[in-house]
Amino acid sequence: MACIAAWLTEDFQLGAPLRQEPIRPITATLIRRALIRALLCILLFGSLQAWLTYRQVQHSFQVAVRNVASSNVPLLSVSVWDVDIEAIQRQVNLLLENNPSIGYATVNTNTGQQFTAGQLTGAGRGQPLEFRISQPNVPSATIGTLTLNVDTNVLYRETLRSVGVVLVQCLVLTALILGLMVRVLRRELQRPMRHLAEFVEGLKADNLSIKLDLHREPSHRRDEIDLVAEGFGTLQDRIRQHIVTLDAQVTERTQQLVSALTKLKELSTTDPLTGCYNRILFNERFPGELGRAERYVRPLSIIFCDVDRFKMVNDTYGHGTGDQVLAVIGECLRRILRVGSDWVVRYGGEEFVMVLPETSLGVACEIAERLRLEIAQQVTVPLSDGAFLNVTISLGVAEQRAGEPMTSLLHRADEWLYAAKNGGRNQVQPCAQLREKETVLSSAAPNAAN
Ligand code: GH3
Ligand code: MG
Ligand code: MG
Repeated sequence: MACIAAWLTEDFQLGAPLRQEPIRPITATLIRRALIRALLCILLFGSLQAWLTYRQVQHSFQVAVRNVASSNVPLLSVSVWDVDIEAIQRQVNLLLENNPSIGYATVNTNTGQQFTAGQLTGAGRGQPLEFRISQPNVPSATIGTLTLNVDTNVLYRETLRSVGVVLVQCLVLTALILGLMVRVLRRELQRPMRHLAEFVEGLKADNLSIKLDLHREPSHRRDEIDLVAEGFGTLQDRIRQHIVTLDAQVTERTQQLVSALTKLKELSTTDPLTGCYNRILFNERFPGELGRAERYVRPLSIIFCDVDRFKMVNDTYGHGTGDQVLAVIGECLRRILRVGSDWVVRYGGEEFVMVLPETSLGVACEIAERLRLEIAQQVTVPLSDGAFLNVTISLGVAEQRAGEPMTSLLHRADEWLYAAKNGGRNQVQPCAQLREKETVLSSAAPNAAN
C-alpha cells in the first residue's frame, strides 16, 4: 500500500535538464482520481448495503424469535398452569441460553408473578414481541404472556459483520482493478507518451529525418497516441522541407549577394567611360604590386600616358567626341597589354597609367612605342560630318628602382611624360639614347635619379 501511495505521488524528471520542472506521471494522476471516485462510490454503496443488511437481519431475527416462541410457549403453558415456579424460571433462562438473538425474556402470569432472564439494557431498545400463554387443552383461555426482546447488540454486530465483508470485498476488487489499470495505462499510455516527449526533446535541425517509433504492440489499434505521433512526423517533414527551401533560398541569395558585391566592387574600381581601373583601385593595388616586385627582386615598370592636345578635341568637336576618344583609347590600351599581369588605370582626365609587372624599362618602352603607334595609326573616331578623327598620345616610362617609394616612381614617369610633351608629343620617353643611362640608374642605388 505504501508503495502504491508513493507511486501515486511520485514526480518524474523527464530526460535531460531541458525540463527543469518535474512532472507527475499521467497514470498516477488518472489512478489517483479514479481511486478517489471509487472510494466515494464504495462509501455510498456501503451505506446502502448497511441499511439493507440491517433490515434483513432484523427481519430474520424476528422470524427466529417467533419460531422460538412457538416452540417454547406450549411447555411454558404447562409450567404456568402447574404453577411450577422453578420450571418456569428454568425455561425462561434456557430460552436466552439457546437463542443468543434474544436479549431479554419475561413471563407474566395471570396470578401476578413475573419471571425474567437477560439484561434490558441494550436489548430493551428493540421492539418487544409478546406471545400469549394459553391454558393447556383450552387454547382460548389465557393464563399469561411471554415477552421477548431481540438483543440489538447482536443485531448490530451481525449487520456490521455482513457490511464489513461486503466492503472488504469491494475494496479488494477495486484495488485489483486499479492495479490492473495501472499496468495497462503504464504500458499503453505513459510509456508511449514519455517516449514521444523524449523523442521531441532530442530533435534538432540535423536529425529531423529520424522517424519516431513508439514500440507499440503490433496488434494494437490505431488511437490518439498514433495520431499525435503521426502529427509530429508530418511536422518534422514540413520543418525539414522548410529548412531545405531556406537553405536553397540562402544559397541563391548568397550567390546574388556575391555577384552583386562583385559587380559593386567592379563598379567602384572601374572607370565607366573607358573600362579601365580607377584611382581608387590604383591606390589600393599598386603598393602591393611594388612590394611584391621588391620582395622577389623582379622588374616592374609603369607607363604614364596622356592624350595630346585633347583640350582642342573637346573644343573643336565637343565633349561627346572627347569622351568617345577616351573610350576608344582605353579599350585599345587594355587590348594590347598582357591580360592577367598588366593593368591599365585611368589616372586623371585624359591620363592613363599602365602597370607592367615583370617588365624592364627597355621592354616597357617597346610596349609603349607599340601603343603609341597603334593609337596614332589605327585608332580613329567617326565625326558627325563623316570624317574620322585621329589622335596621338605621349608616353613616359619608368622602371622601379630598388627601395624606391611609390611617389618617386610615379614622379619619374610623369617627368618622362613631360619630356615627351616637350619633345613634340606623339612619342615615348626616355627615347633609345636616354634609355641606357636610365637603365644604369635603375640598377644603381635607390633614388639615384633624384
Ligand atoms: P597636352 O597635349 O599638353 O596634354 O594638351 P591637352 O589639351 O591634352 O591638355 P590639357 O590638360 O590642357 O587639357 C586636358 C583636357 O581634357 C581638359 C579637360 O576638359 C579634358 N578632359 C578631362 N577629362 C575629360 C573627360 O572625361 N571627357 C572629356 N571629353 N574631356 C575631358
Ligand atoms: Mg593632361
Ligand atoms: Mg593632354
